[in-house]
Amino acid sequence: MASKSASEFNYCKICCTNYTEGKRHVYSKKHKNTGNRIINKFITRISDGLKLLENPLVDDDFRDSGRRFWCYACEIDVNVHQKSETVLLHYAGMVNHLGSLSHLWKLKSFFRLNGLDRTLLPQCYVTQEKLSGFMSASSKQKNQILQPSTSNCQLPPWLQDDAVVIGPTKQDFETHLASKKPKLPENRVGADYDRSTPVSSDWLPEFGRVWTHGRRLQSKQEFNRKWKKKER
Ligand SMILES: [Zn+2]
Ligand SMILES: [Zn+2]
Repeated sequence: MASKSASEFNYCKICCTNYTEGKRHVYSKKHKNTGNRIINKFITRISDGLKLLENPLVDDDFRDSGRRFWCYACEIDVNVHQKSETVLLHYAGMVNHLGSLSHLWKLKSFFRLNGLDRTLLPQCYVTQEKLSGFMSASSKQKNQILQPSTSNCQLPPWLQDDAVVIGPTKQDFETHLASKKPKLPENRVGADYDRSTPVSSDWLPEFGRVWTHGRRLQSKQEFNRKWKKKER
């Protein structure tokens, strides 16, 4: 038996193997089983997105935002979710892809070329009608979320009328400053001095004998004399 040349070998992406039986390969039991297993896996993968067709989910939870899925028919990696301004349209990337005309076209050819069960085809794409319903409901939800968040941001909290007072008031602060002032003894010299008394420009304080003539002892004696006189 003559050995086969390289051109007689074909590669099947579904079975991940070379085959030599030509077009008959897609009718083989192994190929059909593998193909339908792949399609069922695909249907399971997209089921979470299809559940949201009637009732989209839009929020600011970006934890799952980087998720991707592989489309066997188009042979491309697709973003599952779609970021839009400050929100995430959950499964919008997936639904948009499944609703695109290029996906439908490639899906049909994928089924035909691989001899797959055509009854599964309607579960592998989104109709144009369902896609537009999903997209308009998503953008409606997005606008509702963005509207309250922008109206809340119009004024900073300290300029809003019904703002909650944060921290001490100005009066509290002044009271605090007054309490921190050092307290002077009540009977200190000059405590009873009347600062409202009008004085002329040639006024000088009375220094007593310390600054004039005589001994310091004399000034003490005179002070005590005056003090006794005052007490009487
Ligand atoms: Zn195959
Ligand atoms: Zn696709």
